[in-house]
Amino acid sequence: MNNVETLCNVPHIIGKGAAWFKNLSKTTNGGTKIYGVSGKVQRPGAWELPMGTTIGEILNEYAGGMREGLKFRGLLPGGGSTDFLVEEHLDVPMDFDTIPEVGSRMGTGTMIILDDQTCPVGMVHNLERFFAQESCGWCTPCRDGLPWVEKVLRALEEGRGQPGDLDLLERHGRFLWLGFTFCALAPGAMEPLRSALKYFRDDFEQHIREKRCPWR
Ligand code: SF4
Repeated sequence: MNNVETLCNVPHIIGKGAAWFKNLSKTTNGGTKIYGVSGKVQRPGAWELPMGTTIGEILNEYAGGMREGLKFRGLLPGGGSTDFLVEEHLDVPMDFDTIPEVGSRMGTGTMIILDDQTCPVGMVHNLERFFAQESCGWCTPCRDGLPWVEKVLRALEEGRGQPGDLDLLERHGRFLWLGFTFCALAPGAMEPLRSALKYFRDDFEQHIREKRCPWR
């Protein structure tokens, strides 16, 4: 399956040759990529850049960095079904080979930025609500598991979190993973959840300890 971005490259590759196209890249993944940035940055947008431009370059040079008064906390590099990356990954080239090496996926190449005044639990809850609604219902782990994940995250956000909730979420992260479901929707939904539990665990625990969302 090819998307519009792929097909738009074809006339240029035919006209100027494969070597020309490959050399546009900064890495062994050839050509260019349309990268996007959304979230509370100075200039959200999309830019066609050499493949392998780093996360930090895209965020700071093209999107203009964070809005006044906000700090960067993390990002989903390729849309809602990819794993969070954090500050230590800003120098990582955005290409199909390198992003998996640091634990995520390039996906669409359209980054969603998390700032320090947005609740990571609330952000993940919003994503899981979307995925739960999108489940087609064909297989049990996805059909029943995603609404359960959404329910637990909603409880955390509303100050009704329980000490066992994080274990429950982690179990879902295992049982809705590749090989347990018919398509990639449920495993994709688990990527932001599993990585948020890894990088923002303190925030989840704070919700349970204080019985409230600290950002509300
Ligand atoms: S994993 Fe895919 S096939 Fe299974 S219920 Fe979810 S959306 Fe449907």
